[in-house]
Amino acid sequence: METESTARCPLCGAAGRLYFRHAVCGIHRCPDCGDLFADYALPADHVTRTYGDGYFEGGGAGYPGYHLDRDILIETGRRYGRLAARHHAPGSILDVGAAAGYILKGYEESGWRGRGIEPNPRMAARARSESGVEVAVGTLEEYRDDRRYDLVSIIQVAAHFRDLPRAFGNAAALVADGGLLLVETWNADSKTARFWGKRWHEFSPPSVLHWFTPASLGRLVGRSGLREIARGRPRKRLSGAHARSILTHAVEGSAALSLLKPFGALIPSRIAIPYPAEDLFWAIYRKG
Ligand SMILES: [Zn+2]
Repeated sequence: METESTARCPLCGAAGRLYFRHAVCGIHRCPDCGDLFADYALPADHVTRTYGDGYFEGGGAGYPGYHLDRDILIETGRRYGRLAARHHAPGSILDVGAAAGYILKGYEESGWRGRGIEPNPRMAARARSESGVEVAVGTLEEYRDDRRYDLVSIIQVAAHFRDLPRAFGNAAALVADGGLLLVETWNADSKTARFWGKRWHEFSPPSVLHWFTPASLGRLVGRSGLREIARGRPRKRLSGAHARSILTHAVEGSAALSLLKPFGALIPSRIAIPYPAEDLFWAIYRKG
C-alpha cells in the first residue's frame, strides 16, 4: 500500500507516493511518470563519501575488489563497442563512471577512441597507469568539455547520479549530432524486480538513488531530443567474489535467506558466473 508523500519526483516534479521506507531513506514512486526515487538528503561530500576507495574494494553494495572483475569488464566494453558499431561507425567515445578504465579499454579494443570521467581520483589514476586509457577526475553533472562525442556510454552508473536531469542533460549535450548515447542500468519493471519487491538487491541507497524502467529512462533522455533506436538485455557475467558479496548483502537481516549464506562462501573468487540479468537492460539513443 503506497501512501502520499511530500517527496518530489526528480524527473517531472510530481508529488511521489511512498513505496517503502528503507533503513536510510524513503523510496517513492511517481504516480505521473512511474519513476522510483530515493528521498535521501545528499550531503555535500556525497560523491567522495560514497565512491571512496571502500566502494570499489569494500563489498556490500559496491565491489568486493573491482580488479577481480577486470576481464569481465573489458569484455563488456568490447561487446558494447561492437553493438554501438551497428548503429554508428566507431569514432570518439566518452565513458562515464570509468573507474579503473576496464570498460573503456574494451571499447578501445573494438575501435572506439576517447576518454573517461570518474569521481574517484585513485581509480582514475589506475585507469591511466594500469589500463593505459585517459580518464579525467569528475562527475557527469559537473563535467565540461568542448568536444562532442560519437558515443557517450553510461554503464551501471545512471542509478547513482545525484542530479538526474542535469546529468542526462549534460550527457545529451556531449553527444555529437547523429551520435549515440548508450545506457545500461537496472530495470525496476523486470520480472525479477517485481518478484523480489522491496527485497530487490538494487534497493541499496544511498549509492543507488534511482530505479528506472525502459519507459522512464526513454522519457528522460527524450527531453534532450534523443530517441531510442535499440534496446535489449545484456549477457552478464559476475566474478565469484562479486556474486558472493551481493549474496551476503542480500541476506543481511533475513532469517530465511541467511540459510543461503554458507553456499555463498563456497563460490571461488576468480571464476566468472553467468548471471541471468533479467533485471538489467541496455538502450541506445540517437541524437538528431
Ligand atoms: Zn515523475
